[in-house]
Amino acid sequence: MKVEKVMVIGAGQMGSGIAQVCAQAGYTVYLNDLKPEFVERGLSVMNKNLSRNVDKGRMTEEQKKEVLKRVTASTSLNDAREVDLVIEAAVENMEIKTKIFAQLDEIAPAHAILASNTSSLPITEIAAATKRPEQVIGMHFMNPVPVMKLVEIIRGLATADEVYQVIEDMTKTLSKVPVEVNDFPGFVSNRILMPMINEAIYTLYEGVATKEAIDEVMKLGMNHPMGPLTLADFIGLDTCLYIMETLHEGFGDTKYRPCPLLRKYVKAGWLGKKSGRGFYTYE
Ligand code: NAD
Repeated sequence: MKVEKVMVIGAGQMGSGIAQVCAQAGYTVYLNDLKPEFVERGLSVMNKNLSRNVDKGRMTEEQKKEVLKRVTASTSLNDAREVDLVIEAAVENMEIKTKIFAQLDEIAPAHAILASNTSSLPITEIAAATKRPEQVIGMHFMNPVPVMKLVEIIRGLATADEVYQVIEDMTKTLSKVPVEVNDFPGFVSNRILMPMINEAIYTLYEGVATKEAIDEVMKLGMNHPMGPLTLADFIGLDTCLYIMETLHEGFGDTKYRPCPLLRKYVKAGWLGKKSGRGFYTYE
């Protein structure tokens, strides 16, 4: 099967980036969110990213216009009727994702592949909400999507080999590097990364050091490009909490319990960079 038309669900940090790289690679893209203003916000982020590319001489103004022309704003899942591939990047919540997948299963053409950009939720469970579990797969892009090379490709229990192959090939057309993993909570990336971030939050919570000191230790001492608390703000503290809850529930092991300070920040609406405040404050 040849993928030509893609629908991206959720025009947030991840969805807008996924839509951008798909459009840059020549795919026709529908960018979908709940409200027109949410889609607009995603499109304006994309516009800003592309303008930066023009300023840096990586593309011409003409090419930027061509990329944007390939993206259509959508607030109706019915647009999935047109597409070969859906990449869902709505919030990290199983109830919301299964509802979206059940609807997509009714709307999308029989050949269409339904992928989720979930950071940690079981692909097998998302697939079970459809009558086409063999055509459901995980495509876990990294943030910021236009910059980061990796896409973790997650096989659900029922994912067909042909479907895996189509998605691996399609990922390469986006100039990304696909890595195959199996369906376990957090996959590989967040099973390793998120407990480290959660431990950094515990370190702050227990008063071991200031946030700046914790980040500095990990940056200078471990050669990480940014400290774990800055990275948590960048990912979104709500997303971090959802992932820790998925690990905690999925493995039934108390070592994955989310730090109470993380819960408190999320309850306060301090979600990190996207809300203007997390461990740090942002303009
Ligand atoms: P975000 O909060 O920036 O964006 C989520 C968007 O989904 C919002 O615009 C919201 O309005 C929209 N949405 C919610 N319900 C919807 C629905 N029913 N239909 C259509 N749109 C809906 O979140 P994000 O950081 O972009 O994360 C999105 C997904 O990507 C999550 O599953 C997350 O775990 C995953 N992810 C996030 C990162 C990261 O670093 N933030 C990295 C990899 C994967």
